[in-house]
Amino acid sequence: MQVSSWNPWHGCKKISPGCKNCYVYRQDAQYGAEQASSQFRVTANLKLPLKRSRNKSYKIPSGTLVSTCFTSDFFLDEADKSREIAWEIIRRRSDLNFLIFTKRIDRVEAVLPSDWGDGYENVIIGCTTENQDRADYRLPIFKSIPIKHRLIIVAPILEAVDLSTYLDSSIDEVSVGGESGYYARTCDYRWVLNLREQCVSAGVTFCFHQTGANFVKDGVRYHIKRALQMSQARKANIDYKFNR
Ligand code: SF4
Repeated sequence: MQVSSWNPWHGCKKISPGCKNCYVYRQDAQYGAEQASSQFRVTANLKLPLKRSRNKSYKIPSGTLVSTCFTSDFFLDEADKSREIAWEIIRRRSDLNFLIFTKRIDRVEAVLPSDWGDGYENVIIGCTTENQDRADYRLPIFKSIPIKHRLIIVAPILEAVDLSTYLDSSIDEVSVGGESGYYARTCDYRWVLNLREQCVSAGVTFCFHQTGANFVKDGVRYHIKRALQMSQARKANIDYKFNR
């Protein structure tokens, strides 16, 4: 499947432990633009999915998976007005699939579009739960909202997390990853394997998407370069596909 990204706005406020070393802040700092990270602004790409090439075809072709708003949080309160435009675009491009991750699941229901119904078929929402406390707060809310495609994103995983009471056929996938960057916190492989076991028991698809930079396996700590974090996770070969 073709993958593209759409960042209609930029900047975000840190709200939970998983935000401590937020990659948006790290990236902006690399370009000497530290202040931009916490300041909400609409980008020039607000209407990117509607843009067309010279031959009139859409620049983002039909069937593409669009990683949406990865330089902010789609449900940030400051984005409430701009999100109306984004929803309209998502409606018009029903031939694309929009992947949205959020740590603000408690804001979602209040800002859904009026014709949302049981959820848009082309919207996948990933609720991020980096530790047990945030899982226990966010997941009951997540499961109470009408959403067609639900992912649980345990990243950056900060401790062992028990999701067993939340795993059922309403969850499409659990995806786990460690933290990147110079100050990355530990990702212990035992936590990853434990989540995999929970998914297998519950019949939920599981993905280990990246090791992070500070990875502990069998008591040995590995410092893994950014470029290798995804491939090292793939090498573990522990993904599990549940066919409904
Ligand atoms: S919610 Fe996401 S984008 Fe916003 S500060 Fe936290 S990690 Fe960064």
